Amino acid sequence: MYNAESINKILKGELLQQTGSSSIEHILLDSRKLNFPESSLFIPIVSPRRNAHQYMEELYRKGVSNFLVSEDVNLALYPKANIIHVKDTLQALHTLVAAHRHQFHIPVIGITGSNGKTTVKEWLYQLLEKDYNIVRSPKSYNSQIGVPLSVWQMKPENELAIFEAGISQPGEMMNLEKIIHPNIGIFTNVGEAHDEGFLNVRQKVNEKLVLFMKSELLIYCKDYPVLNECVSSFHNTVGKRDKENSLQLLSWSRKMEADLRVISVDRNDNHTRIDALYKSEPHYIRIPFIDEGSIENAIHCWALMLYLGKDPEVIRQRMEGLTNIAMRLELKQGINNCSLINDSYNSDLGSLSIALDFLQQQQQHPTRTLILSDILQSGKSDASLYEEVARLLQKRGINKLIGIGKNITHQKKIFQLLDNVKSQFFNSTEEFIRDFNPQEFQSETILIKGARVFEFERIGKRLEQKAHQTILEINLSAIQHNVKQFQSYLKPDTKMMAMVKAFSYGSGSFEIANLLQFLGVDYLTVAYADEGVDLRRSGITMPIMVMNPEPSTFDAILQCDLEPEIYSMHVLQQFLEEVRLSGKKEFPVHIKLDTGMHRLGFEEKDIASLAEMLTATDLLKVKSIFSHLAGSEDPKLDALTRKQGKLFGEMSHELQKALGYGVIRHIVNSAGIYRHPDLQLDMVRLGIGMYGVNSSRETQGQLRNVSTLKTTVAQVKHLKTGETVGYGATWKAKAPATIATVRIGYADGYPRALSHGKGKMLIHGKLAPVAGIIAMDMLMLDITAIPNVEEGDEVIVFGEALPVEELSKWAGTIPYEILTGISQRVKRVYFQE
Ligand SMILES: *Cc1c(COP(=O)(O)O)cnc(C)c1O
Repeated sequence: MYNAESINKILKGELLQQTGSSSIEHILLDSRKLNFPESSLFIPIVSPRRNAHQYMEELYRKGVSNFLVSEDVNLALYPKANIIHVKDTLQALHTLVAAHRHQFHIPVIGITGSNGKTTVKEWLYQLLEKDYNIVRSPKSYNSQIGVPLSVWQMKPENELAIFEAGISQPGEMMNLEKIIHPNIGIFTNVGEAHDEGFLNVRQKVNEKLVLFMKSELLIYCKDYPVLNECVSSFHNTVGKRDKENSLQLLSWSRKMEADLRVISVDRNDNHTRIDALYKSEPHYIRIPFIDEGSIENAIHCWALMLYLGKDPEVIRQRMEGLTNIAMRLELKQGINNCSLINDSYNSDLGSLSIALDFLQQQQQHPTRTLILSDILQSGKSDASLYEEVARLLQKRGINKLIGIGKNITHQKKIFQLLDNVKSQFFNSTEEFIRDFNPQEFQSETILIKGARVFEFERIGKRLEQKAHQTILEINLSAIQHNVKQFQSYLKPDTKMMAMVKAFSYGSGSFEIANLLQFLGVDYLTVAYADEGVDLRRSGITMPIMVMNPEPSTFDAILQCDLEPEIYSMHVLQQFLEEVRLSGKKEFPVHIKLDTGMHRLGFEEKDIASLAEMLTATDLLKVKSIFSHLAGSEDPKLDALTRKQGKLFGEMSHELQKALGYGVIRHIVNSAGIYRHPDLQLDMVRLGIGMYGVNSSRETQGQLRNVSTLKTTVAQVKHLKTGETVGYGATWKAKAPATIATVRIGYADGYPRALSHGKGKMLIHGKLAPVAGIIAMDMLMLDITAIPNVEEGDEVIVFGEALPVEELSKWAGTIPYEILTGISQRVKRVYFQE
């Protein structure tokens, strides 16, 4: 058990104030994830964009009484807190967790590499959980922040630890080595991608090998030449520490001599059999996967199982039972206006806590419901396990619990004691389904969280809203990545406005806004007032600007605290009148200047009279002054951009001087953020880039794909020479041909202009051209060159492998039009990795 005093001893910091010795169990880095105030130590991390010291007062109010700081604090504000001062909070976090790690003498497996870290970690867990009480990294927690949080979970009852480590810059692995200090290492593979931050692949591999500086064993695949060379020289230098404790290598290969020599890999329908020689003895496994990545991941795990001396028959059995790991949490439209989060793959406290975070982020319905199976996690008595679950539920504001399983039902008293949580229990999934009444679920956000054996997908099916099978998948983690990527281009105190107009460029409304609000973006912008009203109804509380405020919506704007863009004298006069009637004062507005786009906005000649009107009233308060660039993405228009920037500087300066108070000035959109950093000013307006589309060449490779439009094959037809396809019989088979009819048409937003082979879609990873004319709800693809296509097969319309930029070029338009044109009947499915 730790307290402020013992932690200070480890850190050799300065105990600025000690008022008690409450025990510290949890480390809190993200103030939004506060669950256990009394037993948490808040460590504010300082980054160029965010200084988390600013959350101390709020957390103190919520009951946190242990703080680690690197700044001067006003002790009078925290009379009952213990406060430790250190030079650097991130370093202190690393030191603290490294000390924690060194109290344990159990085997620790460390995993690094370009791909497969999380899968190998989760599969080792699946393979070994019967033999050991295992602690492991939650999800893909492998960064400078994620690793300490993972390792901090180590408890006396654990018998084996599995942690992953990832780096983005030279020098980082040294820190992670101190914290994980693995006895056993696995290096999964080396990717081709050139990573920013590293000179070349060799430098990156050598940096990653630092993780195994003190390890006893390293498992790796010899078939990556650079890896093989780097491991050899690492082994000959760093690895030769002394005779007793030098690094042992366990290599495997499909091509050359190795400790585990893979002889054959045979795929059939949905299984792969792998034969190999280990210590000259033949061994084999069968895994329920056929893709290359899974085969490689499984062999890494296999090598470790053999090293641990597990019985070959046991290994075979468990390998057969490997399951896909759930890398994502899905958010879907449910029945009766519910939102549904599906996570029916595992149930342990770590993953429950992550899923509850996501549930808590959802503001759209006041009722939050959890359907939870027995928690499958060893090392704790049932009573203390479910008491912890109960505490979590209360902290995360769950209103309704449906517990399914014998153990949770047995502990139902614990939950029945909770205030504000209605609970219901069933012994099995069957029992729940037998009694299922859809009417009991109305306008609530439901999290379905259960271990695989409970088959909660059967519950998911009943709660999900049925729709036709064309879906637009939105990767919320990718949006988060893109926002962070653009933030990294900004100067530390430049604010960010996120454009969620036009249904967030087609990707959704409150789902995206919830995420942006959670990420702490400064402003949201919609095109019309009704979009803003919808966001307010869904629980969005952050500032929202409306770009096209129509007089008929002024009352809604005032009522919902939306902030209008004022672009002309006429709008200004009308809006002033409305504010006067409402009795409000200093209502926030945004002044739009026209600097050359000639769409909306005040011109140079209007500034003097505009300033006069604004200074003569206390009904309005100008929050920002802004303008829009006509060609920020186009090098040919850079002269125009500079001219616009200059004019904006002059006009906004004049206006601001007249107003006599500080306002936010902003002019750049996505492309401008990167291409015209000198115009970032006080705030930027991020649009298309957030949705993963590169509007300028410069960001290519740095953004992640957000949207994937998918459909399915409805029917496959075999045509004889001379037969035709579709309306107008415009497509004719020149030889025997195969045609797939797919469930998407121009009414879904797939442009009819892509008829006659202009458009192509991906089936089984191959491009199939559109045959003939696109119909309203369906179209046909020529799949003559793609064998074995069947009804129900997935068809990718655009996504990671077929960028929407490509599709828009085929259609002679821009990604903006394609994305915003996807019709509302296409179901949106959100997921978080
Ligand atoms: C849509 C819009 C943006 C965002 O533009 P992107 O190119 O999508 O980044 C910025 N400002 C204004 C005024 C807009 O209308």
